[in-house]
Amino acid sequence: MPEVNAVYGIKEKFQIPELLEADFQKSNKSIEVSELTSLNFDFAYSADNSARSRCFLKIQDGCNYRCSYCTIPNARGNPRSIPFEQLPEIFRDVSEKGFREIVLSGINLGEYNSNNYFFEDVLRFIAENDFGLRFRISSIEPNLINDKIINYVCNSNSICKHLHIPLQSGSDIILRLMKRRYTSEKLYNDILSIKSMNADICIGLDVITGFPGETELDFQQTYNFIENLPVSYLHVFTYSERRNTPAADFPEKIPMKVRKERTSILKQLSNNKLLAFYQTQIGKTHELLPEKYSDTEKVQFGHTSNYLNCKIKTDRKLDNSFHLVQINEIDSDNKIIATLI
Ligand code: SF4
Repeated sequence: MPEVNAVYGIKEKFQIPELLEADFQKSNKSIEVSELTSLNFDFAYSADNSARSRCFLKIQDGCNYRCSYCTIPNARGNPRSIPFEQLPEIFRDVSEKGFREIVLSGINLGEYNSNNYFFEDVLRFIAENDFGLRFRISSIEPNLINDKIINYVCNSNSICKHLHIPLQSGSDIILRLMKRRYTSEKLYNDILSIKSMNADICIGLDVITGFPGETELDFQQTYNFIENLPVSYLHVFTYSERRNTPAADFPEKIPMKVRKERTSILKQLSNNKLLAFYQTQIGKTHELLPEKYSDTEKVQFGHTSNYLNCKIKTDRKLDNSFHLVQINEIDSDNKIIATLI
């Protein structure tokens, strides 16, 4: 592409200012992309909101699952993780910078492995130590959810009562075509077990509609599966072909119009689920971490540990710590109104 002067890889992105400066001094075009197989872990965290109360901390990168629709393994390389022994210092550093919540993130977070310290060991370490922080799991693959992880999420005060799980389909035929590593039954049992231990946990699912070969029956199975599950919201993605993935060459493509119709049906289901979950929370008390404050409306926004996005009437901005709130009502825009206790 004649308009492109330089191409930098996933590793080089952390040195872009220096690389650009060096490349500007040379007149020729530059391509600096490291071998994906030889990448080390690059540690990074970033603020999630202007209040700087919550930050994303990447503790894992890369994936070698090769789901049939996904380009990530080609772009991000093999799994690698931040060394386990570095975690205490990083957590302390994040806490000293004033953040109160860390969203643990990764391309396939549950595959965290640092010299045989696995993701459940990270959660155990968090549960056994007090950093003055709460920790949210960004997302975890269904095949990696196990009893230890369920136990930490349900019972540790430092781990948010929130799980986001990429289900993708409720049809086992489609899950096999996607080369996913679990059955719908496995996830069904896990979700029921989580909710039986702690009914207030918020569970969200990713779903893909219109994957090649997804018949009306497969879609109906997905719909019924989700409708019967005690989950709180969906992120719905309309399948679109990605170059260099096996699924792009699968036959039985679903017309885009049908894909979009299925997306909108699931989005409606998601709205219903969210409202039903909110209603179960009325009258309950939760710890809220403040985010944005509106001076004009005199309203404080913030999330509870179980991901309720609340509005609180208060004439002053709440300080950056945990505040006990009671969930009072859902307003006409489906926003949660809470009061300080
Ligand atoms: S969809 Fe997720 S688990 Fe599957 S290959 Fe992509 S990153 Fe890995």
